[in-house]
Amino acid sequence: MAKRSSAKAVRLTCPKCFAAFTVVAMVSKGVDREKYYKERAAQHDCEEHARRLANNGKTFKNPLKVSKAMARAR
Ligand SMILES: [Zn+2]
Repeated sequence: MAKRSSAKAVRLTCPKCFAAFTVVAMVSKGVDREKYYKERAAQHDCEEHARRLANNGKTFKNPLKVSKAMARAR
């Protein structure tokens, strides 16, 4: 491992489903971070995310709570 790379948790937004999620990025110096983050964001598992949201939705009876949960998930 190069000494200059550091693990860092970054908050990304999926370009496809617009879900916010956190990844641990290993970014070395000299690497184009914006490009790297964009690539990581593009790797988001949208299907899995949608499934999880659907499962969470089932536990809520109140639609108002669901929209609040959705807002928090963003
Ligand atoms: Zn996604």
